[in-house]
Amino acid sequence: MHAPGDVRVEDVAEPRILKPTDAIIRLSATCICGSDLWPYRGADEITEPLHMGHEYAGIVEEVGSEVDSIRPGQFVIGSFFASDNTCEICRAGYQSSCVHREMLGTSGAAQAQRMRVPLADGTLVATPGVPSDDLVPSLLAASDVLGTGWFGAVAAEAAPGKTVAVVGDGAVGLLAVLSAKQLGAERIIAMSRHESRQKLALDFGATDIVTERGDAGAARIKELTDGLGAHSVVEAVGTQESMMQAINATRPGGHVGFVGVLHDVVLRGDDIFMTHVHVHGGPAPVRRFLPELIDLIWTGQIDPGKVFDLELPLDQAADGYRAMDERRAIKVLLRP
Ligand SMILES: [Zn+2]
Repeated sequence: MHAPGDVRVEDVAEPRILKPTDAIIRLSATCICGSDLWPYRGADEITEPLHMGHEYAGIVEEVGSEVDSIRPGQFVIGSFFASDNTCEICRAGYQSSCVHREMLGTSGAAQAQRMRVPLADGTLVATPGVPSDDLVPSLLAASDVLGTGWFGAVAAEAAPGKTVAVVGDGAVGLLAVLSAKQLGAERIIAMSRHESRQKLALDFGATDIVTERGDAGAARIKELTDGLGAHSVVEAVGTQESMMQAINATRPGGHVGFVGVLHDVVLRGDDIFMTHVHVHGGPAPVRRFLPELIDLIWTGQIDPGKVFDLELPLDQAADGYRAMDERRAIKVLLRP
């Protein structure tokens, strides 16, 4: 990405093993993230061309001399933060805050044919075998959007008997609906104004659709829950309005799981003090959930790949960015 709105597919240096813990993978599929749209829309400053992409699934081609568990030929998935998966923070389930974490997309960009993945043993999870082509989109979804939606639902403590509301109808929000369903939520309220997204939300397990936003959206959730608010609310947008909508739609003692990347959101203690709402979130520790998510996909219990409603060859990535920016596509899969 050379500048806002300016995405080009260009030849760059081949990735190579830089550290003995690295792996090189050949991408089977990659995709464009909602968070890639922030610099695309000029919200983040671009001082030098950005190598884009942090969602990946593919075949291991080469590993460094200290890599033990990952082998060439395996089909693997990893998260947008490389992690050692052994430090105290990782063992507590917060691999995206690993003491050795490295952000993918800067050191190894995934919107490419091949990429370098640091800390391969800790970061990558191999599937039981090389998947058939039709499973690849769902496995790719586990790399970020599904893992992030899942963390949102876990952080919001979605569980049997609970009412879960989801703020945001992007891919993460829609997959938070799927996650809440899988975690046993009784009632799932998706907040969306777009017909195609509402349809997918219902397909993923939503029981109610709310079209209002902001204060009106929060009020509508209260109306639907005997004036109490939802037990669990997943925030999957990241704006001031959506964050306050999530907090104000949650009942006292309830939980907000926030996974939309926040931009200029200010929470005043005074606004939260009286609510008795738990607020937990951040960059999802996707690595924690990968083995379980891969199993659910491999055994056909979930089909998160349905969020990809446009598939393009990698060399048409610029069209993919445009389609997502104009909200013509929910999420774009790129085939290298
Ligand atoms: Zn760690």
